[in-house]
Amino acid sequence: MDSHYNEKLNLVKDFLKKNNAKLIAHYYVDAELQKLAEDTGGCVADSLQMAKFGSQQEEANLIIAGVKFMGETAKILNPEKNIYVLDKEATCSLDESCKVDEFRKFCSDYPDREVVVYANTSAEVKSISDWVVTSSIAIPLVENLARKGKKIIWAPDKYLGAYIEDQTGIDMKIWDGSCIVHEEYKTIELKKLKKQLDDCEVLVHPESPRSVIQLADVVGSTTKLINASKSSKSKNIIVATEKGIFYQMKKLSPDKNFYEAPTEGEGATCKSCGRCPWMNLNTSQKLIDIFKSNNEILLSNSIIQSAKKSINRMIEFEDKYYQEKKKVS
Ligand code: SF4
Repeated sequence: MDSHYNEKLNLVKDFLKKNNAKLIAHYYVDAELQKLAEDTGGCVADSLQMAKFGSQQEEANLIIAGVKFMGETAKILNPEKNIYVLDKEATCSLDESCKVDEFRKFCSDYPDREVVVYANTSAEVKSISDWVVTSSIAIPLVENLARKGKKIIWAPDKYLGAYIEDQTGIDMKIWDGSCIVHEEYKTIELKKLKKQLDDCEVLVHPESPRSVIQLADVVGSTTKLINASKSSKSKNIIVATEKGIFYQMKKLSPDKNFYEAPTEGEGATCKSCGRCPWMNLNTSQKLIDIFKSNNEILLSNSIIQSAKKSINRMIEFEDKYYQEKKKVS
């Protein structure tokens, strides 16, 4: 953290208090913004947890450090609050790949299928879907639908879709989208890095290609990977997901060594990037200037109501699923 952090923290605290606002950050924004969220009583979480946390806050204004679909999810679950994102240009390649009109057409080709979409989609796409899921609950939910004899459309991430198919043996119609960060991890270079580091564990987000997932010791959501980095007995941890996550991992295990999974092959000048260009648009200066910009997330009531149904179905399923799991264990 830079030497002016405390100065900045006081400024942000004061700013949030004066404006009846709370800062909520995603694991992928830079370490400073994550720490500012933590130190001002906000939270750092995945997109759904960010929105859920927002619902429990008294403040009328929620400021989202993340990307646009996260702001939209917060608005869908908190329509009475004013939701702001730090940069309206901060989007996501998965969201961008799946425009609502094209997706509606795709779905109309398979009218007998339930539409399951990943959280990384626009509010419009969520509003025409049956289910919205996070990576942590996608497999049990798809299995549950298949047990009921339902056929499934999956969007927008083709790699996460392939991973779900591999794990469950369930055949789905999959939209052709990908995350530009996770898609870049390279198998050969990752094998070399594993060889160099004895005593290492590889943690991979399932938005990565199948060949990279096959080299993983743990595959899972951001939260699962953070927990795995803590519980791992290995000294060295290689991580294939956006590098903003290292802030939380290093905080939990300051004695471990963390390595970015390689994103480029032999001869490349940059061996690893692992940085989302849109997450990178989030800065603390934009936070201070938030009310000078036009960064409020506005959605029509009909979109909010329809998208909310699909998200709430998933939340209900998730609650039941974990209750059942608890009973069994
Ligand atoms: S890291 Fe990938 S999935 Fe996450 S916001 Fe960036 S482009 Fe989207």
